[in-house]
Amino acid sequence: MESFGHVIAGEEVASIDGATFESVDPWTRRPWATVALGSAEDAARAVRAARSAFDEGPWPRMSHEERGAILHRLADLLERHADELAAADTADMGKPIAQTRGHDVPRAARNFRFFADHARLTAAERFPMPSGHHAYTEYDPAGVVAAIAPWNFPLMMASWKVAPALAWGNTVVLKPAEQSPASATILARLALEAGLPPGVLNVVHGYGPDSAGQALTESPLVDRITFTGESATGRLISKAAAAHLTPVSLELGGKGANIVFADADLGQAVDWSIKAVFGNSGQVCLAGSRLYVQREVYDEFLAAFTAAAEALVIGDPRDPATQLGPLSSGEHFAKVAGYLDIATAAGARLHTGGVGDGWIVRPTVVVGAGQRDRITQEEIFGPVVVVLPFDEEADAVAAANDTRYGLNAMVFTRDLARAHRVARALRVGTVWTNCFFVRDLRAPFGGAKDSGVGREGGTYSREFFTEPKAVIMELS
Ligand code: NAD
Repeated sequence: MESFGHVIAGEEVASIDGATFESVDPWTRRPWATVALGSAEDAARAVRAARSAFDEGPWPRMSHEERGAILHRLADLLERHADELAAADTADMGKPIAQTRGHDVPRAARNFRFFADHARLTAAERFPMPSGHHAYTEYDPAGVVAAIAPWNFPLMMASWKVAPALAWGNTVVLKPAEQSPASATILARLALEAGLPPGVLNVVHGYGPDSAGQALTESPLVDRITFTGESATGRLISKAAAAHLTPVSLELGGKGANIVFADADLGQAVDWSIKAVFGNSGQVCLAGSRLYVQREVYDEFLAAFTAAAEALVIGDPRDPATQLGPLSSGEHFAKVAGYLDIATAAGARLHTGGVGDGWIVRPTVVVGAGQRDRITQEEIFGPVVVVLPFDEEADAVAAANDTRYGLNAMVFTRDLARAHRVARALRVGTVWTNCFFVRDLRAPFGGAKDSGVGREGGTYSREFFTEPKAVIMELS
């Protein structure tokens, strides 16, 4: 068994009361690591460390060049330790090593490099005023950031929060999800090795409600809360944050619509649609879990899509050939499997898929569901896609918008005007046209409706992780 502690004030430590929990490998279904189980007291200790590193330490007072050099060193170390980090995320939550090693860890390193450079290169604005004054903006660090992360992209989501927070001079307490704690401790160890001063990046492990997570959201010493997770949790965090008017950034759930028009390149649409809903076993907020296909090509598309789904390699996530591993936990497996029963009880049919061995759900294609059925409306967070036919463009747009979520959508068409028209009509944070998951880190990322509050990425992260200050000067 490996062992992972909290990292507080530059030391890897046990919980104050000595409590621990075990992280279970979803493929073997056996514990593989012992992790410190933080309480509200451990969270408070981590917040105090971050507070004093912010109020008295060098980090917020360094230049962007100095901070950037350390963050680039951290990115170097993430790349050097890529095998260890990928193995940790794979052991914690069962994601195939091809995805953790091939995507998540490199992207985490890229997040640190991007925000280090972005903070250094985006100059503050200057506003020459006709009245004989001049005004400029300062972007002061906001203070102590509580970063609460989900389990589906453990290291990658943590870095998406920690990198901009650090680049803009804040100090951080990161609480990873209890299902995927290991890579956060490794990240904090490497951050110290890279030269981050003690207390600048703290990690506290534990659960959410009545535990370390909730304590972070209720602390008067925290200046920003950045959270990624379920919409229901986002509501609780918003409420807790309101007590101290702490600004929150919420990246929440999704039920992505994927619209395939008859004029699309169907081969391309099939490839992307498979990636969009079966990557990471569908445990992706952006999953294209509602697939709307224009009726003229419905049968042809469904046949090709089903064949591609059935061809995915299912198995041990440590095997580099595996494309689809187990779900992240027994509890989550039960939830996803339960949705298959909900679908069939409502009269829909599993065209292919169903439950497999262990905590595997095979790539599952549901047909014959209704637009208002639970299977079409609720986030399942598994390898389950509902395929529905549509006739007119307006019908597809109306169906796509008919959900409480608004994170993202995909549109497949060769008609340029239609692509723009549909993108404009969709109430979501991101529209991918003839592709999926391609990101420019300067672009806004976040969700409309129940999918979130605020945007992150580039200057959007800067707005959240700083206190922009206007300075106005009389020139005469
Ligand atoms: P979750 O809401 O159960 O937990 C997320 C984190 O919040 C965990 O660290 C958990 O311990 C903590 N937490 C739970 N209750 C809390 C509370 N009351 N106070 C403080 N912290 C609390 O979500 P999850 O199951 O880990 O992740 C899956 C969800 O995340 C899905 O809904 C998915 O769509 C969403 N997600 C969204 C994005 C995005 O960018 N919009 C990205 C990835 C995942």
